[in-house]
Amino acid sequence: MARHLQIPQTIRELLEQGAHVLVNVSGGKDSDAMLKLLWDAYTLHGWRGDFRVVTCDLQRNEWDFSLPHIQKFVSETTGKQVEVIRREQGDLVDQWWTRYRTLQQEGRADRVPPWSSASARFCTKAQKEAQVNKFIVKHYPQDALILSCIGIRADESPARKHKQVVQAYTQSPTAPTKNRHVNRWLPIHEFSLSDVWSTLGWTLERLEALRSEVKANIQPGDREGLYALLKTWNYHANPVYALGNDRCSCRLCVLANQNDLRNGILWNPDHYRDLVELELTSGFSFQQGRWLAEMQPDLLSDEQRQRWTQLRQTAPQASVKIATKPISPVQLTLPW
Ligand code: SF4
Repeated sequence: MARHLQIPQTIRELLEQGAHVLVNVSGGKDSDAMLKLLWDAYTLHGWRGDFRVVTCDLQRNEWDFSLPHIQKFVSETTGKQVEVIRREQGDLVDQWWTRYRTLQQEGRADRVPPWSSASARFCTKAQKEAQVNKFIVKHYPQDALILSCIGIRADESPARKHKQVVQAYTQSPTAPTKNRHVNRWLPIHEFSLSDVWSTLGWTLERLEALRSEVKANIQPGDREGLYALLKTWNYHANPVYALGNDRCSCRLCVLANQNDLRNGILWNPDHYRDLVELELTSGFSFQQGRWLAEMQPDLLSDEQRQRWTQLRQTAPQASVKIATKPISPVQLTLPW
């Protein structure tokens, strides 16, 4: 049975005072489920504040399924248009290359990886958090109560388990100023995976059956065939889960497991080659101890394969080359 939304008393009071609801969606199952439940509650209770839905387009790092899915899902669920925001200074591919060049100029490129990682989540900070903060400041310059709703769950990781369900932002640029108060709310923090899928009208068993059929019948890259099959199953979540992905994130995420990385590579070979280029240039693997170049070398160009062979020979320690000291310039604990 689908689980109901628990609304903490503090949140209920804020909503009754006219707090605006800002729903952060990513195209993933968790934010879909959160949006559905929040919209149901908003229409049921008749809260006076705005209800806005925002997404950060990760551009070259985004699965091509995601933005169309978000636009359709938001419009069908709420009748509203999602507001799409992007980092103007460049996407994450740009950000990693810029970091590499900066490290080179500082003489640290042989010691510090250009990639983000679990302990250096500058990607999330720049591509998502900073962009949402700018959106809040622009659209609510003063005299506003805002609930920034994020669909993260305790089950996902130990770090997420310890996040507070309600937290006031106290740091710039969304600190209380000009009578603007922003609170982060994690409405589905206690939900299990099964709760999320049942909110979307699916069971885990049915999802597994769909995945088996996709695996048996759809070749990587066959988007038309995939969409046609999903239609027969009346499946409306992001297609990446039907491919077998555990998470819907960047096409190739620095935190992804091997399964999600493999799907990302097979369905996005151009992007794969782009990222391998930075591995080969910097001499640092995409994840600590895991080289993209090693995962699917048949998809690399001849030149990239040659360089990869050379890199392995000339730098036998390459696969364990890691930063030996904290990575600057940013190490952050983020509200994501
Ligand atoms: S999905 Fe992964 S690579 Fe992309 S911004 Fe988030 S942590 Fe970074």
